Amino acid sequence: MSGLFPFHGGLKTVRHKTESNQQPIRWSALPHRLTVPLRQHIGAIAKPLARAGERVLKGQMIGQPDGYISAAIHAPTSGKVIAVEQQPVPHPSGLPDWCVVIESDGEERWVERQAVDYRRLHPSEVRNRLRSAGVVGLGGAAFPSAVKLNPSGHAEALETLILNGAECEPWITCDDRIMRERAAEIIAGLHVIAHLLEPREVLIGIEDDKPEAIAAMVAACAGTGFAVRPVPTRYPSGSVKQLVKLLTAKETPVDGLPVDVGVQCFNVGTAYTIYRAIEFGEPVISRTVTITGHVNQPQNLEVLLGTPFSELIAQSGGYRDGVERLIMGGPMMGFAVHDDGVPVTKATNCLLAASAAELAPLRPVMPCIRCGACVDACPANLLPQQLYWHARAKEFDKAQDYHLFSCIECGCCSYVCPSHLPLVQYYRYAKNEIWAQEKEKQKAELARQRHQARLERLEREKQERDAKLRQKRPRHARWRWKTRLTKPSRPIAPRRLRPRPNQRLKLASGAIESPCTLKR
Ligand code: SF4
Ligand code: SF4
Repeated sequence: MSGLFPFHGGLKTVRHKTESNQQPIRWSALPHRLTVPLRQHIGAIAKPLARAGERVLKGQMIGQPDGYISAAIHAPTSGKVIAVEQQPVPHPSGLPDWCVVIESDGEERWVERQAVDYRRLHPSEVRNRLRSAGVVGLGGAAFPSAVKLNPSGHAEALETLILNGAECEPWITCDDRIMRERAAEIIAGLHVIAHLLEPREVLIGIEDDKPEAIAAMVAACAGTGFAVRPVPTRYPSGSVKQLVKLLTAKETPVDGLPVDVGVQCFNVGTAYTIYRAIEFGEPVISRTVTITGHVNQPQNLEVLLGTPFSELIAQSGGYRDGVERLIMGGPMMGFAVHDDGVPVTKATNCLLAASAAELAPLRPVMPCIRCGACVDACPANLLPQQLYWHARAKEFDKAQDYHLFSCIECGCCSYVCPSHLPLVQYYRYAKNEIWAQEKEKQKAELARQRHQARLERLEREKQERDAKLRQKRPRHARWRWKTRLTKPSRPIAPRRLRPRPNQRLKLASGAIESPCTLKR
């Protein structure tokens, strides 16, 4: 542990890594149909650029970033767009989202690609390239990397750049395999990141249960000045704030980001995609996915985004008997999907086919006994039982006072709770309720602003009409003044009385006469 600074809490968990990390990464088969979600990242959904019936090339942009925190989406293969519509996507809510559905033509024809020498470009151009390539964090968060690579928002120079190869969740081994097989490319991507951020030091954190990956990365780092730091195998050492603490001793503020203490962190998979984007002009159209658990051939596959989960399960020998749930992500932080036809996205690092043996056994839930075990286990230094009380009582303001949104949903508290309370589910419920309330507030505010704007517009139009009338009135008044002074050249009464067709006029006697009567 020398040179390391242990974080509070955490767990020793069963690893289950060897099931899937023994084989090299293979390319998955090209699916007949790909469903590519336009939202595969944190931030605004990409604007669709393709229409149904259009032919697209592999790597062609089909979704444009919409705003600063957004990411581009590209066609993973060449073919025909058959629909742009809402489809089921992998999300805990189970709600559908907008997707571009592509029927593959099997030709894999690439769009024109252009490599660049990033050292000759202005940093903003390099960031724009990465933004256009749709690079996001592949550790699971899928935050747009171009935003994290822009140091201008931070007054202080970056002290430490961390490359995260910890991969602490049980069962997941995709990062382990890419470090073993693509270490030189990852380090090339790390050079691009270091070039943009100019940190004082670059550290690479890898859990010490991955000796092959550590050896490969040490060899690739030779002569670069980058330092590989094996960290103890303790969940959740791969979580950003915990890894920052482990490697630098710095505590990220409860409601802050590592960059607030001069540290920035990227996943090894992200560094690899940065390398591909710069060296080959390739956008992010695939990622490495671990398929493990109760399947016949657990493995790591390089998968085109948009490939249905069910095809990956089939390519891994299919489900074994007794599968109860398919989980995207690991058993601690992942979530069960409602349908295995949903597509792989940039955030899909693992598919875990879980049987009863892999899932926590269902145990009777009992009242909280205030033992404090959850407090000891919480790596985010929160008070999980307080959060639980307030979430359960729907006292969401109080839950926020206890930093609900700093909870990383690691599940350590639930894991150790002797009362078997599903604590993380309460936190997720509270967060969702707060987001929903926030959305309602925003909607109400928008409606109020629209109503106010309408009232202002009506008032403005009224004032403009009045002003026009005021401008007209003097001329009218002058005309009337003149007419009073001037003697009319001929009597006007007969003109006024001239009948129009079908007009009925009242005569002095009071009888109503038709125009024909008058003519007579
Ligand atoms: S571990 Fe469970 S029982 Fe103990 S204080 Fe926390 S919530 Fe309560
Ligand atoms: S799930 Fe949240 S409250 Fe529970 S241990 Fe993890 S960070 Fe702490």
